[in-house]
Amino acid sequence: MKEVVEAIKKANKVLVVGHIMPDGDDISSVLSLSKGLRSIGKEVISGIDWKIPWIFEELEEVKDIVDYQKFLDSGFDPKLMVVVDVSSPDRIGDFQNLIGKIPVAVIDHHATNDEFANFNWVDKSFGACAQMVMRVNKELGVKYDENLATINLMGILTDTGFLRFPNADARVYEDATELVKLGGKPHKISSMILENKRIEQFHLFADVLEKMKIELDGKLVYSYITQEMYKKHGCTDEDSSGFVHELRSIRGVEVAIMFMEIRPKLVHVSMRSKEWFDLSQFAKSIGGGGHPRAAGASIEGKDVFEVMDYVIPKLKEEMSRGEKS
Ligand code: AMP
Ligand code: MN
Ligand code: MN
Repeated sequence: MKEVVEAIKKANKVLVVGHIMPDGDDISSVLSLSKGLRSIGKEVISGIDWKIPWIFEELEEVKDIVDYQKFLDSGFDPKLMVVVDVSSPDRIGDFQNLIGKIPVAVIDHHATNDEFANFNWVDKSFGACAQMVMRVNKELGVKYDENLATINLMGILTDTGFLRFPNADARVYEDATELVKLGGKPHKISSMILENKRIEQFHLFADVLEKMKIELDGKLVYSYITQEMYKKHGCTDEDSSGFVHELRSIRGVEVAIMFMEIRPKLVHVSMRSKEWFDLSQFAKSIGGGGHPRAAGASIEGKDVFEVMDYVIPKLKEEMSRGEKS
């Protein structure tokens, strides 16, 4: 952490970058660090090379996030790129082009992080990257107001399934409590994310349930969404990111998977486990990454059915061998 903080202290112009297919922890980490650095007088641009899911648009700050092209157009000349919640360079889209050109610092909590930066603070014991950003901000002397506390809290809540997953340890509760004491509003985040669904999402989910397969005596459950299904229900991949959690919630399920054709022949594999199966290693073996209980991979050039034919037999074999973590 010291190295990363020192690198930030030295740089007056900082680019803060998150991962493609951004989630709540990623957006929280990007915005919390950007706001923190601005508040201590630095010039900052926030970058995510992907469309921000509509669910986060309620946060005013989201409008300030730029993709790689907009970053280039801005003419901004950063002295440091800080990458948050990212395990490997391919996860930052075209911001990868800056690696090797300017110093890069990483703040991340993924088990599969390959320490690709000049300065790496990687600690998989944190439930959320937002907890690490909170520590960096504090070390830099950033003062928290209600808004910053709420945004920072979002990452902790979303990456721990609203304080429910096994990664919700005492430190997670302590950090969340501290942010609430600083003015953070957890109900704002939970209503924005959990109680804000479009009816089209329910219709798509009904279709997903119809297609659901249950194997290994109920330990493995999976389903899929094709491009046609998204179109039929007026949805995009932004609408289906929570579905895998619903499948995981079925009694007796150890591994739940959603195969989603998010663009023609680009399939995102979203995986969750409950108690013992190590998904981070499995995800790595199919070209992705993540955490033991939540991991993913994006596979290009195949349709959903081809990807399932490739992934499911491999997974069944590994689950039958009973690989634990
Ligand atoms: P998701 O299922 O997309 O919500 O992702 C679950 C976890 O796996 C997150 O922590 C992601 O950062 C990670 N992850 C998802 N997709 C990939 C990928 N293509 N490569 C590496 N890590 C991924
Ligand atoms: Mn993330
Ligand atoms: Mn995260």
